[in-house]
Amino acid sequence: MAKRGIDVGDDPLYEPRYSEIATFMRAPYAPDLEGVDIAMFGVPFDGGVTNRPGARHGPREIRNQSSLMRAINHATGVNPFDAARVADVGDVRFSRVFDNAAATDDIEAFARRITEAGALPLAAGGDHSITYPIFRALASAESPIGMIHIDAHTDTWGPFRGEKFHHGAPFRLAAEDGLIDPARCIQIGIRGAQNWGDGWEFSQSSGMRVMFIEEFEDLGVQGVAEEAKRIVGDGPTYVSFDVDGLDPVYAPGTGTPEVGGITTREALSLLRCFRHLNLIGGDVVEVAPPFDPSGNTALVGATLMYEILCLLAECRATG
Ligand code: MN
Ligand code: MN
Repeated sequence: MAKRGIDVGDDPLYEPRYSEIATFMRAPYAPDLEGVDIAMFGVPFDGGVTNRPGARHGPREIRNQSSLMRAINHATGVNPFDAARVADVGDVRFSRVFDNAAATDDIEAFARRITEAGALPLAAGGDHSITYPIFRALASAESPIGMIHIDAHTDTWGPFRGEKFHHGAPFRLAAEDGLIDPARCIQIGIRGAQNWGDGWEFSQSSGMRVMFIEEFEDLGVQGVAEEAKRIVGDGPTYVSFDVDGLDPVYAPGTGTPEVGGITTREALSLLRCFRHLNLIGGDVVEVAPPFDPSGNTALVGATLMYEILCLLAECRATG
């Protein structure tokens, strides 16, 4: 898709970064998915939040801040735009915006188009409820996937006031459907008081590896990465990054902030340890621009998305 070289006037990557329509990382816009290896898309939905809304505005603001992204990863040398055909394929459109079950179906259908086109999905949320329908498109009970999940919360709770499709539940739903193999799932950075412990208990009793923030601190980034790689092995694995896994000093613009989280530097180092895993997709969720007056949380979200893009591009190039 995008041409490379010096004199490439129609390549958006070579235009001044404040110009043009703000696609994710200034990648070409390709809603038809033609020839796309990695499909970045937005899921502007926050009907699943249990506290502060606003993540529906995440994709647009992440696109805006992602204009600051450049191509070559200084730490790994990877240029994802050279390694794979990367595109922004647009946003999920919702048939019924006040109906979580319908929204779940819409997200699944959009993600299924991506997988059926042979592309790897990389989503910008949206609240965390969006990951469960992506899993429905990527996995089945016959071929469950593994997961590296960074978050303050396990998101394995039961129904909230009668609604099962909410942002505290995606990985419980995925486990109950057999879409994820709990033995190949790790949840990293978990913290914060709860009124009931059943989410933590569900994760642990189902066989997921739950790593609370204290253990993260004890092990350090390299130790955490080794444990994550041991858990997921070489099977197909998805990376889901909730920005509230970060400390709110780095990412205040989110619905359910929890103090005492990981730093942006730890997050970037951790993600770079996951090169050469068998990665099949990823997302960055819970960026809520209404609580993000400086725009920094969206910049952080865009940067995390870029690091996951580098991982996926390398998988695609070598796989
Ligand atoms: Mn979450
Ligand atoms: Mn969370």
